[in-house]
Amino acid sequence: MYAIRRVKLEPQILADLRRRQARVDARSHAAGFKAQTEWNNARQSNCIKTVRSILARMTGDLERCMYCVDSHATDIEHFWPKSPYPDRMFCWSNLLLCCAECGRFKGDRFPLGLAGESLLVDPTVDSPWDHLDLDPETGAITAAYSIESGSWSERGERTVELLQLDRREALQRSYLRTLRRLTEALDQVLDSGTPEPADLLEFLRDRDDHRLLGWLLSPRGTCLPAVARLRDHWPSVFEDMIARVAQDGS
Ligand SMILES: [Zn+2]
Repeated sequence: MYAIRRVKLEPQILADLRRRQARVDARSHAAGFKAQTEWNNARQSNCIKTVRSILARMTGDLERCMYCVDSHATDIEHFWPKSPYPDRMFCWSNLLLCCAECGRFKGDRFPLGLAGESLLVDPTVDSPWDHLDLDPETGAITAAYSIESGSWSERGERTVELLQLDRREALQRSYLRTLRRLTEALDQVLDSGTPEPADLLEFLRDRDDHRLLGWLLSPRGTCLPAVARLRDHWPSVFEDMIARVAQDGS
């Protein structure tokens, strides 16, 4: 998972979503109301088709799932699930795009904290690598450990558990492949002398199929020899790249 910038909708689409939400709000407590039926009726509308294409653009060229960043994103995903939370069914901030597998694992489940806040990491709001970590040996996504608090991120733990990010072997293999491509590419550039930060970043981004660059340039990524080499021999380039990723996203 990586940080995705949510775009601003055109006023006309936003107004259409609000109208649809107001209709749901007026009827959601009535007998016989079914969130899934409401959604099925809406999904072929021009409004929802447009929303879907905007979400697809937000994921980049490959239209990968916003949760696992591996499989093709097939469905509009309601971050707060639509059946238990119909009051967010047409809220732009609640709509993501995900693959069938992530959608199936999540279903209507949605972990909440004591104050009623979401414990699932939202890639359009959160910096996912603040909560999640990558095991470079196995490719499994795990909860991030905070040295300051001396504990594992609760949101990370619940996100991994809900989406089963530590049990999906094909996913783990894909992450490992991308990690290997990135470190090989990094070594290749460093072998030829002092790298230029913007060029190196572009070179790596072209090979970062699973958007792991944010992790790679975090302190945890320096456990990999190629990253430690960059940090130790070209510290200013390393810092420059971290700043660029923080500004532009990974
Ligand atoms: Zn997925």
